[in-house]
Amino acid sequence: MSAGPPYDIFPFPPLKYPWSSDTLIELLAEGYELTACCEVYGCGHQARVNLIALTRRLGPNHSSAAEEIAARFFCASCEQAGRKRGKLRFIVHVPLVTSAWPRRAKG
Ligand SMILES: [Zn+2]
Repeated sequence: MSAGPPYDIFPFPPLKYPWSSDTLIELLAEGYELTACCEVYGCGHQARVNLIALTRRLGPNHSSAAEEIAARFFCASCEQAGRKRGKLRFIVHVPLVTSAWPRRAKG
């Protein structure tokens, strides 16, 4: 039986105060969400970041700083339009009861 990917299951760190969101696992443990935004003039495409998939890929202790993760992303709209790869920025969403992510099936 395969052991699976190294970060298939990862333990959450204890929550501490003051909050620290320096690593991907801290972002996840504190319930934050992340949106990547394209800064190319006229584009403005935005997409939610799957933090669980990103944490599995990069490891739980990887930095959550924008400059450390930006190279992992590209804008699909710009790519499709044949535009040059532009700068991305990230919005960190605080945990809210009314969060729209993950989307739930209606019905
Ligand atoms: Zn774009």
